[in-house]
Amino acid sequence: MKISWPENKQFAFTIFDDTDVSTLGNITPVYELLAGLGFRTTKSVWPLSANDPASDYFGSHTLEDGKYCDYIKSLQQRGFEIAYHGARMESSSRNMVQKSLQKFRTELGVYPRAYACHAGNCENLYWGEARFTIKAFKLLFQLLNQSKIRYSEGHRPESRFFWGDLAKKYINYARSFSYDEINLFNISPRVCYADSRKPFLNYLFISSDADNVEEFNNLIHLKNQEKLERQGGVCILSTHLGKGFIKEDAVNPATKYLLERLSQRNGWFPTVSQLLDYLTGTCRETEIDFTQRINLELKWFLHSFKRKLTARTYEKSELDYLFPDE
Ligand SMILES: [Zn+2]
Repeated sequence: MKISWPENKQFAFTIFDDTDVSTLGNITPVYELLAGLGFRTTKSVWPLSANDPASDYFGSHTLEDGKYCDYIKSLQQRGFEIAYHGARMESSSRNMVQKSLQKFRTELGVYPRAYACHAGNCENLYWGEARFTIKAFKLLFQLLNQSKIRYSEGHRPESRFFWGDLAKKYINYARSFSYDEINLFNISPRVCYADSRKPFLNYLFISSDADNVEEFNNLIHLKNQEKLERQGGVCILSTHLGKGFIKEDAVNPATKYLLERLSQRNGWFPTVSQLLDYLTGTCRETEIDFTQRINLELKWFLHSFKRKLTARTYEKSELDYLFPDE
C-alpha cells in the first residue's frame, strides 16, 4: 500500500516510548539526540508513583518526581507528544485512574490523546485474551499463556478497575497489536481503525515492536530503513527507551548512527497522534472488517512465535540510573 505523505515526504516514522524503567538520567541523552535530529516522537508517562518496592519497575520516574516532570514538560514544549502508559507501574482501581488523569492534566495542561497498556495491569482495556475478537485466537492465547494470565478489566463496568467511559472520553488512540516489521502497511492497510467490538476505545493502532536497544537497532537497521523509504511505508515503533540505550551518559553508538542516517532520509517524523490524525483523515472507512480482524490477530501470533526465536537481551545499564540522587 502507498499513501501520499505530507510535504512530499517518502515515508513516515515515529516512536511510542513505553515508560518502563525510565528515569531522568537514562532518557535525557536519548531525547536530546532525537530532538537535535528533528524527530518529534511520543513519550508515555506514568502520572503516579507506585507503593510496591517489589515491583519490577520500582525506581522508574513518574510525574510525581519533580525534576523528571519538568523535563517531560520541556519535551512537550518542544513538540514531543506526552502519552499515557496507565496510571502507575502497578494495577490501579478507578479512583486511582481518575487521580492520574487529573495529575496528567494539571502538569501538562491537556489530557493524554494516546495510550498503551502496561502489560500486567488489571485496569488494561481489552488486553490479555480480551485483545482477540476471534474465538479460536482467544482460546489459543489462553492455552499458550495459562500460567501468566492477568485479568484485564478496564472495559468491564462491574469491575473496580473499570475506566472505559474515561478512556472513551479522553483517549483518541490506543495501541492494539505489535509486530516484528518496520513497514506496518506490510501487516495491514489499516494501521489505525475503529473496532465496534471494543466500544470503549475510539481508535486502535498497530505498531512495530522492539523491546530494548538491541531489538531497536535491529529493527531500524539500514536495510530496513531503505525498505521503509522504498515502499513509502509507515513505522510506529513501540519500544522502551529506558532499556539499555545509555551507557555512561552517552547514547548507544549504533543507535546514534542509525537515527542520524534515518533523519537524513526524506521522511516525515511526526508524533504518534499527529501521524494517526493524518491516517484517519485520509482513510474514509474507519470500522475494521472481519477479514482484517483475522489478519491482524493471526499475524500477531505468527510474529510472536518468531519474536520468541529472535528476541535479544540487552545489558541492563538502567540499574545504574535508578535513584540517580543517591
Ligand atoms: Zn510497560
